[in-house]
Amino acid sequence: MRFMVVFITLLLLTACQSSDEITSKSVEMYNGTGDRVGTALLNEAAEGVQIELTLEGLAPGFHGIHVHEYPACKGPDFKSSGNHLDPEGKEHGLMHPDGAHLGDLPNIEADGAGLVDVELMLAEATLLDGKNSLFEKGGTSLIVTENQDDGVSQPSGNSGARIICGVIKKEDGAGESEDAPTDPTEFNEEQEE
Ligand SMILES: [Zn+2]
Repeated sequence: MRFMVVFITLLLLTACQSSDEITSKSVEMYNGTGDRVGTALLNEAAEGVQIELTLEGLAPGFHGIHVHEYPACKGPDFKSSGNHLDPEGKEHGLMHPDGAHLGDLPNIEADGAGLVDVELMLAEATLLDGKNSLFEKGGTSLIVTENQDDGVSQPSGNSGARIICGVIKKEDGAGESEDAPTDPTEFNEEQEE
């Protein structure tokens, strides 16, 4: 009996230690010339992944923001991040009847000084293991665009150039994933803006 208790305790300890799941992650955000312009703090929540975002240096007004499929932020155009994260093959846009991509988020607004300080919810996404995990296939990235997302146009809501990028990876590294293809167009026939 005593042996069993010790054995089960050991088993539980081992189970806890072998898990590398995390429930929060801080993501550094960079502009196209490589300057750090803010932080996105990701937290696991019941409805999805909550994002506490602070940015500076934006043009005042609305901007699109999306989670993209590769953990690669190669400036100045950030095409390395691939398309919007879309594990279920949906259409783009929070207002599209057949949408949205898992990576689609509501627009953010920069104030007159170009600052953003906002809380967003990436519904149905997770930091834990699974199909909708932001760490699936080595990670993803968070991208801010020049223009606002109209919520319905394909493939990315006419949101314009990618201007800020942050790598979402479980382990901090150089911001490049070995899994990310050197030429993302190889895997994406319709490369987005
Ligand atoms: Zn999308």
